[in-house]
Amino acid sequence: MTVRRLAPHSTTIFAEVSHLATRHDAINLGQGFPDTDGPASMIEAAARAMREGHNQYPPGAGVTDLRHAIAELELARTGLVRDRDSEVLVTVGATEAIAGAVVGLVENDDEVVVIEPFYDSYAATIAMAGAVRKSARVVLSDGRFRLDVDSLRAAFSPRARAVIVNTPHNPTGAVLPREDLEEIAALCLQFDAIAISDEVYENLTFDGVRHVSIATLPGMAERTLRISSAGKMLNCTGWKVGWVTGPAELIAGTRTAKQYMSFTGATPLQMGVAHALRNEQEWISTLRHSMQARRDQLAEILTGVGFDLVVGQGTYFLTADPRPLGVTDAASWCLELPGEIGVAAVPFAPFVEEFADEWSHLVRFAFCKRPEVLAEAGRRLQSLAR
Ligand code: PMP
Ligand code: GLN
Repeated sequence: MTVRRLAPHSTTIFAEVSHLATRHDAINLGQGFPDTDGPASMIEAAARAMREGHNQYPPGAGVTDLRHAIAELELARTGLVRDRDSEVLVTVGATEAIAGAVVGLVENDDEVVVIEPFYDSYAATIAMAGAVRKSARVVLSDGRFRLDVDSLRAAFSPRARAVIVNTPHNPTGAVLPREDLEEIAALCLQFDAIAISDEVYENLTFDGVRHVSIATLPGMAERTLRISSAGKMLNCTGWKVGWVTGPAELIAGTRTAKQYMSFTGATPLQMGVAHALRNEQEWISTLRHSMQARRDQLAEILTGVGFDLVVGQGTYFLTADPRPLGVTDAASWCLELPGEIGVAAVPFAPFVEEFADEWSHLVRFAFCKRPEVLAEAGRRLQSLAR
């Protein structure tokens, strides 16, 4: 019964794989969520907010104190001054920020450029807006995923209203270098398009690599919506507190759509996140170091089993090629894996469309789990070794 434009997006791969993981009591290295809590003071701040009676709707744009904390963080991270009332909007996760931006700013039949492989909600959201998706792609160059600039140029046209940029990049773990972002920015300026920049993994970069936001490139602050989320920053994916910052007229369009998606998010959780953004920056940078160690742990395990790997420098994810283990169909293999060996991973297939032939042989493993859990996954994966 689902409408035609959403029929291809009926069940997310994350829901499907997590369901299989639960059913088979498998270690879930599929869906990206950590297995430890965020800072105790954040949880206490949210609990206190509930006990102290902050249990009704917050302002439409989000709890004022949180918007203030986001504006301060924005200044510290990007040097951009954003007004907490007109240029900051709190959303129900980054997911709602993305959806609000696309539905609120892209006309029917406008084009939206995405870069394959892409996070799955982009395609569904573009479909909801009745817009047209145009795909560019990444390429593997010297063992790293980079933007294929030619494909990006080919994807842009005078009908392009927006490009969705994602760095650090899900699913590949790539951190796009400044030069790639400059190419995207040049096309945005040439075609008068906006950038919807999904930066939910902005704190999770490794090996000393720094995250660059496209909003900081010349001419882009005026045409970029920068999206982030407490979920990945503070180990609270279940709280669904996200936000978007940008110029007032782009925030206004996003807010218009957002008002009728969720109206508002959860007051006490937003208060908890405000507390953490102000007081737990140390915790946030420690998370980066521990995540890098876990990336290295899982990379060693997967290499030992016999996968070919592309080790990125950001996010929660490693890209693995299971073909050396005799796998010919990665998508169905991922659906069998939880039942067969008690480990779950997600295939790249749902993240690609136009360039499906190039990347569908790959799978994504999440490493945002406790070291002992990764070690147990390693023991189970060992049965795949040839
Ligand atoms: N964008 C990317 C690239 C993601 O990986 C995720 C999942 N955290 C989201 C958006 C959605 O974030 P949230 O859970 O805050 O809605
Ligand atoms: N962002 C997380 C991932 O990529 C989970 C998203 C989801 O379940 N929708 O695994």
